[in-house]
Amino acid sequence: MNIVHLKKGKEESLKRFHPWVFSGAIHHIQGEPEEGEVVRVLTADGQFIAVGHYQIGSIAVRVLSFVDEPIDEAFWHRRIAVAYDMRRAIGVAGNPLNNTYRLVHGEGDNLPGLVIDVYGSTAVVQAHSVGMHVYRHEVARAVADVMKGVVENIYYKSETTLPFKADLGQENGFILGGSADNVAMENGLKFHVDWLKGQKTGFFVDQRENRALLERYSKDRSVLNMFCYTGGFSFYAMRGGAKLVHSVDSSAKAIDLTNQNVELNFPGDPRHTAYAEDAFKYLDRMGDQYDLIILDPPAFAKHKDALRNALQGYRKLNAKAFEKIKPGGILFTFSCSQVVTKDNFRTAVFTAAAMSGRSVRILHQLTQPADHPVNIYHPEGEYLKGLVLYVE
Ligand code: SAH
Repeated sequence: MNIVHLKKGKEESLKRFHPWVFSGAIHHIQGEPEEGEVVRVLTADGQFIAVGHYQIGSIAVRVLSFVDEPIDEAFWHRRIAVAYDMRRAIGVAGNPLNNTYRLVHGEGDNLPGLVIDVYGSTAVVQAHSVGMHVYRHEVARAVADVMKGVVENIYYKSETTLPFKADLGQENGFILGGSADNVAMENGLKFHVDWLKGQKTGFFVDQRENRALLERYSKDRSVLNMFCYTGGFSFYAMRGGAKLVHSVDSSAKAIDLTNQNVELNFPGDPRHTAYAEDAFKYLDRMGDQYDLIILDPPAFAKHKDALRNALQGYRKLNAKAFEKIKPGGILFTFSCSQVVTKDNFRTAVFTAAAMSGRSVRILHQLTQPADHPVNIYHPEGEYLKGLVLYVE
């Protein structure tokens, strides 16, 4: 096996179990590892410190284990089994009302570069590193084995998540099975999952708990679900007894999906209308009829350089909501950009509130759910931030 030798002193973060080796920490590489190959990492003194997937780029090794163990079939099986046991222990798996959950959340499950979402009998596997792409069949076998009787289909969806330069020629498709049944259930509500073309793995599984909270606040309210995508927040609001629900997204495809999903749960319900329109245009032209507004925009900043513009985006967006929301209204506002910290986001929302001159209280501070765990040694894994605000 190829060996990565670190520069003197560069093992410190690994000693604290941070799962990445940056290229600048490497003294030299013994052998010529292919991208995605497993390499052993040694300190300058020649001591074993980690084993992981090698990749060309600023993160050179993504650590799979801090124990000197083989990365074989038994390894994958163990890791997937631990992840599945945790989901059962917290009640998101093995729950008759909920068959939608994240089974593997990258570093949060000690499997950097790997995301697996489960939708009923189908698992969608997504590789974010070359190593996980190379090992996709091992991963799929482990999932099929650990989840026998639950997962019967495995769809591989990594066309847009792998580094372009690696030129892996990957294609999306089923690795196992091939079901066309794409209706899944979250907290008793049904929705279609578009594995083939949908964003992420087809659904935003990370908003489950926040949608459930929204349901509690929906009774008799007029709801605007801005950036609705597949309409998750909309059908929870309807179940919660909302007076009316308007869903908005700039993508016509998203609006179709939202309408289908609302129809699946509340056929013919006249309370819901969906609009394919740009968020800023809609917020400008809308009146002041809403007393519950959800703002769940796409990541405004994917890289550090874009941070300033992103914060300005959050400020402008939230300012519009503060300007128009009815007195006594509730605002659910989110950021899913990893580079925007909790404090950055709060400051942007506070500034927007101050601009409106309204009195605003924080009711809840939200984050990602427990099936998207944060590895305590990898705080960068915390990405979803939300505030629930009461606007006088
Ligand atoms: N709230 C959703 C996820 C939102 S993802 C859920 O719970 O599933 C972000 C969505 O914002 C995408 O569907 C995208 O089409 C939409 N979007 C991006 N830019 C937009 C814009 N300028 N105006 C309105 N929608 C936009």
